[in-house]
Amino acid sequence: MKEETEMIRLKPVFKQMIWGGNRMRAEFGYDIPGDDTGECWAISAHKNGDCEIAEGEYAGKTLSWLWNEHRELFGNIDLPVFPLLTKIIDARENLSIQVHPDDTYAGSHENGSLGKTECWYILDCDPGTNIIIGHNASTREELADMINNGRWDELIREIPVHKGDFFQIDPGTVHAIKGGTMILETQQNSDITYRVYDYGRLQGGKPRQLHVKQSIDVIRVPFTGSDASDKGIRLTAGKESEGENECRPLVRSPYYRVWKLDIAGKGSYIQDNAFLICSVIEGQGNIGRDGGKTEKIRKGDHFILPAGFGEFALEGNLSLICSSV
Ligand code: ZN
Repeated sequence: MKEETEMIRLKPVFKQMIWGGNRMRAEFGYDIPGDDTGECWAISAHKNGDCEIAEGEYAGKTLSWLWNEHRELFGNIDLPVFPLLTKIIDARENLSIQVHPDDTYAGSHENGSLGKTECWYILDCDPGTNIIIGHNASTREELADMINNGRWDELIREIPVHKGDFFQIDPGTVHAIKGGTMILETQQNSDITYRVYDYGRLQGGKPRQLHVKQSIDVIRVPFTGSDASDKGIRLTAGKESEGENECRPLVRSPYYRVWKLDIAGKGSYIQDNAFLICSVIEGQGNIGRDGGKTEKIRKGDHFILPAGFGEFALEGNLSLICSSV
């Protein structure tokens, strides 16, 4: 095996937020910067949080550097920036209610930026927690009136959320997680968010900026949810007995495909995508290839299996969320 087909481990970048918490320390063993750590950018080549490679030949270089200099590790795909971003989000308090633009709107209004399509795997939430997905306005005029006149209770659509649910958030979907929710987010490599409503909170004595005009522009009216973007897909319901390996596709969008892998014992897989992002969300075990080295992996680890990684085995009791383009 050539050197460059080793797995690529990355160092996460942490973001402190007014709504952030400290659960990532105990849950994932991360050295978080404070008790208001809202986001862990686990796999990111975005300029606002470009992850460093943790070990090996490219240790200390950033993921954007690796993308630019060694495109062969990513199947030589022809895109201007590394296309995906994987985050863990720990909400101690409610997040602002927000919406993202699509590529077309972001490209013309946000200096050529990408739009943002994202999806959420619910890692944990307090019992009885709701999630905000969609809205109840039937026309854009009604939407504007509800937003401009603060008719939030009428506008906002809330549904119950459970550990193991999965949501696809297309551009134009009003969305927010509430306090007590922890998610793994897979998204387009973009940081463009329009804040619709922030519960009237103050940061440093002032409200955070809202983006009312942009929100009214991009929110899709009326809200129509698909299964994954409306009710969520219950992954924990109907789980088979222990001792079985499972690889379940969660979503296929124009920007990404996402899977959940559950391993109990040993499972064999092939990495034949341009690259595969892997996040261990439960348990621990090993990853290895025939004749190659075996590495320990555990809950909280994030890595990329590059192009040409080929056949590998996962062994142990563990769950992963994996994604590719
Ligand atoms: Zn979002």
